Amino acid sequence: MDKRERWFSEGAPLFRQLLARNGLAGRLPTEDPYYLCPCCLYVFPFESVAAQILTIEHVPPKALGGKEMLLTCKRCNNDAGRDFDSHAQKRSEFHKMMAGEGTKRPMRATFEVDGIQIKGEAQNTGNGWLLQGVTKQNRPEMLDAHESALRAASDRGETAKLKFTIRERFSPRHADISWVRSAYLAAFSALGWSYIYRSALDPIREQIKPGSSATLPSIIGFNRSHNADIRQIMIVQEPEELSSVVVRIGHYTVFLPDLWNTRTLEELAQSISKLRAEDGAVPLSMNGKIVPWPTKPMYALDTLNP
Ligand SMILES: [Zn+2]
Repeated sequence: MDKRERWFSEGAPLFRQLLARNGLAGRLPTEDPYYLCPCCLYVFPFESVAAQILTIEHVPPKALGGKEMLLTCKRCNNDAGRDFDSHAQKRSEFHKMMAGEGTKRPMRATFEVDGIQIKGEAQNTGNGWLLQGVTKQNRPEMLDAHESALRAASDRGETAKLKFTIRERFSPRHADISWVRSAYLAAFSALGWSYIYRSALDPIREQIKPGSSATLPSIIGFNRSHNADIRQIMIVQEPEELSSVVVRIGHYTVFLPDLWNTRTLEELAQSISKLRAEDGAVPLSMNGKIVPWPTKPMYALDTLNP
């Protein structure tokens, strides 16, 4: 039995139990086992595993250092990659580059010397900058003029003053949604359907589903000084106004609604904004219970008792 089949088989009976507890057992089409995609809340039969309709998700996305964690449906998985994760990845590369760390791929850039501008690519290799004009993006005479200006400076024994601008575009809002989605999936994997299958989480699901536009209240903090490898889930009880499930993934901290439905996402966002520092960081003096970072879906049925 491969990993996807095992995860399906472990989860399906617990999903049925959850429905039964809520008096919704009759909602499933047949007596067969079904898996609920935690993002779109569609149910899928076992055949969906072999048909590759249920796919393995990495949390955070693989390109951002994530590991295999759970099953989601192919549509949710692919669309999030395109709509949100691509923005998070570009932003992360941009931050790394600006911090002087090496990046795996070049970013689109514009170079200017003596007022002559060309388009190209810039990459911080970790040992320095690699700046290259891209032939097919420029008129040949501009490339020649740029080259001559650089050579003229060098002939004069000067270092050419080269100005470059990164042209890579990403939407910070969509990048944020990618991290919120990773946090939601980690919370699902650790706390199960009984946690996420509640109306308090509806606004988040609404946001992470395919084709949605980014309008989520700000429930995310960024702290550059945090270690990129941090992975932590905490059921926060104190301070009371931050009662929530806090998921920390590297530099990002995402606040999700707590287990007791004490406040809406909107109210939680308001508490966070009051504490937020100018640089976007949210102080982490919080007390609560640490939940082990999941390496597979745990499907816990009982709300954790702190
Ligand atoms: Zn789905």
